[in-house]
Amino acid sequence: MCPVRTDYHIHTRLCHHAEGEPIEYVRAAQKVGLSEVGFADHNPMPEHFDEWRMSIQDLPHYLEMVEEVRSTTGFPVRLGLECDFIQGYEFWIESLAGKVPWDYLIGSVHYIAPGWDVDNPKYLSRFRRFPVEEIWELYWKNYVRCVESGLFDFVAHPDLPKKFGYRPLGDLRRYYQPAIESLAKRDVAFEINTAGLRKEAQEIYPASAFIELAREAGVAMLVNSDAHAPAEVGYKFDEARNLARQAGYSKVCRFEKRQRIEVDL
Ligand code: ZN
Ligand code: FE
Ligand code: FE
Ligand code: ZN
Repeated sequence: MCPVRTDYHIHTRLCHHAEGEPIEYVRAAQKVGLSEVGFADHNPMPEHFDEWRMSIQDLPHYLEMVEEVRSTTGFPVRLGLECDFIQGYEFWIESLAGKVPWDYLIGSVHYIAPGWDVDNPKYLSRFRRFPVEEIWELYWKNYVRCVESGLFDFVAHPDLPKKFGYRPLGDLRRYYQPAIESLAKRDVAFEINTAGLRKEAQEIYPASAFIELAREAGVAMLVNSDAHAPAEVGYKFDEARNLARQAGYSKVCRFEKRQRIEVDL
């Protein structure tokens, strides 16, 4: 039997910073030998919030696009959403969760403080104005809250604040440990996200030390590309799977109607 090969973190042009049509992403997935994909665009907010997510008016369009590419290609296409975890908006994620039969919801921390999405190049200069330790502390505190919220099936790009190459000195496991404890306790999975290889960080999210600790704690995982263009689907998945195997993983997970299913890595 062919192994299950998924990519569950794929964007659409509705978020205004991704390109291509859903069908082009599906064709790209077929070309690189994936057996299933999932779209997970940036979630709408109740009001205009920032420049890089779908609007609430576009949500029906998003659902139609995913349904359409599924029916025209006959390829397994899952329906997901990449949700920003922002304290005070839990009610909103809950209402989105109840509105649509999602296959999975991804929890992401981009905002470390109001008006500061840590991966936004617009605020790059803040990495030179604030101690990187403080930025990482804010980020990981929110990451733990994101996991603990119980709102999500898996969490995205665990060590995102390294995107531009700024990392605190020393052993970074001091930041990872509390997040991994929460993942284990709440039985939430995490993604190994190859987008970091396309950024200044030049490293998969998360670092291998995180993957090793997560494996020891029995946390489930999956491999994703965070594609914002069709050519990025399945990007460097061999590298990601090798990291996972080296850490001792032999299973990955897939999702259907918010049920987690473990399959062979
Ligand atoms: Zn994006
Ligand atoms: Fe993200
Ligand atoms: Fe994403
Ligand atoms: Zn993302």
